Amino acid sequence: MIRNIILVLLTIISFQAAVAQEVSTKPNPWTGKSDAELRKIADELAHKYIITDGHVDLPYRLETKNFRLTKEFIGIPVETTEGDFDYVRAKKGGLDAPFMSIYIPSSYQETGGAKEFADSLIDMVRGIADAHPDKFKIAFRSSDVEANFKKGIISLPMGMENGAPIGDSIQNVEYFYKRGIRYITLTHGKDNLICDSSYDTTRTWNGLSPFGREVVREMNRVGIMVDISHVSDSAFYQAVALSAVPCIASHSSVRAFTPTFIRNMNDDMIKFLAKKKGVIQINFGSSFLDQKIRDNQDQKREELRELLDKKGLKMNDDAAKPVIEDFRKKNPTLYADVEKVADHIDHVVKIAGIDHVGLGSDFDGVGDSLPTGLKDVSQYPNLIYSLLKRGYSEEDIAKVCYKNVFRVWDRADKYAKQAKDRAKRSAQGN
Ligand SMILES: [Zn+2]
Repeated sequence: MIRNIILVLLTIISFQAAVAQEVSTKPNPWTGKSDAELRKIADELAHKYIITDGHVDLPYRLETKNFRLTKEFIGIPVETTEGDFDYVRAKKGGLDAPFMSIYIPSSYQETGGAKEFADSLIDMVRGIADAHPDKFKIAFRSSDVEANFKKGIISLPMGMENGAPIGDSIQNVEYFYKRGIRYITLTHGKDNLICDSSYDTTRTWNGLSPFGREVVREMNRVGIMVDISHVSDSAFYQAVALSAVPCIASHSSVRAFTPTFIRNMNDDMIKFLAKKKGVIQINFGSSFLDQKIRDNQDQKREELRELLDKKGLKMNDDAAKPVIEDFRKKNPTLYADVEKVADHIDHVVKIAGIDHVGLGSDFDGVGDSLPTGLKDVSQYPNLIYSLLKRGYSEEDIAKVCYKNVFRVWDRADKYAKQAKDRAKRSAQGN
């Protein structure tokens, strides 16, 4: 008996030692490289491998600028000083497949017109690709991205941020698949007909609605990835448990670094997502990265409100604009830096493994809050450099840059194909 206990104990100890050894003695493949050499390698890897990004808000940014597909505007996505994304900067940074966010503000849930608005943004992205066939192409599956990558063309896959355009009609899921949508973020800032939002306090459904459960199954059936960024914790657990294929978080960061910000994912959620073979794509916005920055921003916002109050002004008043501008100049927002993004990636790797993390910058969506060293799409090599310094291997970098997300995307495709085949067989059988 005692001998058996000792044997068990010895086995446990040696197992733990083996695990610890694997973590601590994994050799750093870059030992002996100078800083300049590592920078060069980072830049090479950024271009050698596909980089996909889960969330780039170019369509909505252009929409707010009254973008039209006319000569006057058509150069904007190619080279511009505005915003965080354009072709020239994407090429410099090695970005090959930014998921274009078809973002539907939750106000459309009240006013109606969400579907029409989604269609107009999809048309815009398609129009950009049609206008520059040598530079951009819509991608519908990972093999499209690979083919475009070989030709030096930037792929524009599309994801829809907010399921509101589905309305109450399940047929719209397939409609949007046919229009090119390859992931749907179930909701955005408010609870919708599908599920609850992390930003809302109503908790209308305590997670997914009965219709939302139908939507998740239908997304699986047609081949649209389930994106759980923005949803409440309960909606997250229910959607990930229900989905027949792994899920993504297209642009979420790690809550351990921002305890009060429940829009990010806690460790248990990250582990559950990983257990189901999903991927969290890290958001670069400074307020997603660091609680100190969040607190400071809250305090500054409060100070600004008091200042405007004293002058009898409201935030949206025209007369408030110069006051706000002046205040901003005197109180520059604090920025995180690229190392902090690497910290978030590291954290996911430590608790869930290298196969479950990717990039979801939120470029063009988080305003002037991007970290130093990751200000726009030309700067991905800086992040790769940070990871190389931490001993990430070439294969690790490839996984973070695209392989993990492509695994989920391919799985969603395969499941949909099998579902179609099953339906065909059973129709023939009847
Ligand atoms: Zn978002």
